[in-house]
Amino acid sequence: MKFRCALLFAPLLLVPWGDAYAQDVRVRLFALRPPPEVTLRAFSGSFQWRTCPKCPGTAATLLAIEAAGSQLRIRDAGVSREVYIAGEVRLEAAGEPAFTANFPLELKAANGQLFVTATVPLEDYVAAVLTGESGDFRNEQSLKAMAVVIRTYATRFRGQHATDGFDFCDTTHCQVPVWNAVSARVAAAAEATRDEIVSFQGAAAAAFHHQNCGGTLAASNEVWPDVLEPYLRSHSDPYCITASPLKWESSLAVLDVNESLRQAGLTPPAGWSAIEIVSRSASGRVQRLRLAGGSPPDFLLSASSFRFAVDRALGWNKIRSDLYNVRTDGDHVLFTGRGSGHGVGLCQAGADEMARQGKDYHQILDFYFPGTHLSKASSQEWQTRTSERFELLTTAPEQDSKLFPDAERILKEDEAVIGWKFPSRARLQVFPTLDRYRNTTGQPGWVAATTRGQTVRLQPVAELRKRSILESTLRHELFHLLVESHARAETPLWFREGLVLYLSEPDKRSAGSITLTDEQMEAILLNPGSRRDQEKAYAAARERLASLIQQYGKAAVLDWLSGGIPAEVLAKPSAPANQGASQQP
Ligand SMILES: [Zn+2]
Ligand SMILES: [Zn+2]
Repeated sequence: MKFRCALLFAPLLLVPWGDAYAQDVRVRLFALRPPPEVTLRAFSGSFQWRTCPKCPGTAATLLAIEAAGSQLRIRDAGVSREVYIAGEVRLEAAGEPAFTANFPLELKAANGQLFVTATVPLEDYVAAVLTGESGDFRNEQSLKAMAVVIRTYATRFRGQHATDGFDFCDTTHCQVPVWNAVSARVAAAAEATRDEIVSFQGAAAAAFHHQNCGGTLAASNEVWPDVLEPYLRSHSDPYCITASPLKWESSLAVLDVNESLRQAGLTPPAGWSAIEIVSRSASGRVQRLRLAGGSPPDFLLSASSFRFAVDRALGWNKIRSDLYNVRTDGDHVLFTGRGSGHGVGLCQAGADEMARQGKDYHQILDFYFPGTHLSKASSQEWQTRTSERFELLTTAPEQDSKLFPDAERILKEDEAVIGWKFPSRARLQVFPTLDRYRNTTGQPGWVAATTRGQTVRLQPVAELRKRSILESTLRHELFHLLVESHARAETPLWFREGLVLYLSEPDKRSAGSITLTDEQMEAILLNPGSRRDQEKAYAAARERLASLIQQYGKAAVLDWLSGGIPAEVLAKPSAPANQGASQQP
């Protein structure tokens, strides 16, 4: 499971959001390969179809629908932009397992493809995903733990495809449901944990799972740099390693490796003779690799890019995790590794072994999500409200929804300045008190807001208004969202921060000379100490970016976010080294 979906940037489909029951989730079916046509058959009796949500329904026993551009062509019944189905139907699409359900369906079309969205009660979704993900569980308590994890994920990440008008796709990008095969055992595990989620500080936890951690769990930010949750940290897992030490070996031909990299848009160096491990994360997972001995001689790439390239070209089971050693033997590369999957959150193999040893699902969830507790999905303190471009996470929806008009306006203005649009709904989380904000974000009270991934976390709105910094805070953080949506992982913090500061106030008079080196700025921003140091780093970063933009132009500097900062820019000493941040006041 990843955060961002590369699969689906379908044209924006406007979907009525208001009618669904609060605990329903909207799931895009056939998301990997939207079919050009589908057949709907009544499962018993007839079903109802209509061409708008409030139109009168028509009873049918069979309906064939195909996409014609962005219209739906309904056999023997003309065309429509959308079709709504109610009642028990069997939905058939060529090459896909049939979907039989009594969930409301919506059909739309774009580019000759059909987009089918089902509105599913949360508990049915949990049972369907549990069916898809529970193949290896032998024990009831681990199955229950998994049901809670799936429900928690659905509660936490609901709306992650909101821009496209649904909550979850049905691929591994989100969670994979299997609709028509829920066993009595799976249904019982879902029912026994009905409404229970893992929560942390009043909100649903980021409950990830994987098949086998290989004995060491990965911290969340090893896999997704912008996800840092205190309960997703690296620690050893004695359970999976004793029960099913998943050891794997894989031998790849150098020719196949080269071809995989080329298919992924990478150019391997000519005649390389060895793959070397350059760095590992805290949990021992490979982070960077070098293809050595070729031309150019020093070709570096991330382990995840390498694995994605090989996965896509040669099949997912060639490199099952990033926990491996590698050696090159003539025209082959030999990998020996442990575990399967990203290693963050619940380890399925370990959870099943804990259950076998007599632990219950509370103990299993405690072990994999330390510091969290169980709570009810239906009585969540944090509530969600959405506007056109924003999702608001709040404990006071009436009051905090008043942010929407300002946030919408400022985002539009920021987008015009930067020249691209934020690709999905941005998330605003407004804390009810300063204490809650400090405890959750780990930020001191003088930092008004922080942006991580797609979420801007704000101090109480009343507090920001009182200090007259609501507008400037929103402007700054929304620039961060836009910058983060384009920045590649290696982009240094000083560059991101300086760019945002410059864009927020391009006309601000500069303070003079830059007083810190790039490395010094980076060190402070990575690990801020005093307020004074941080302000110094901010001023220096702004100054550095202002001078880069003056020298190279705004367009070029913005391009560096995704294309990389040219070496000569980084190599150039930007400040005398003796004015470091280490000199505390
Ligand atoms: Zn998805
Ligand atoms: Zn494990």
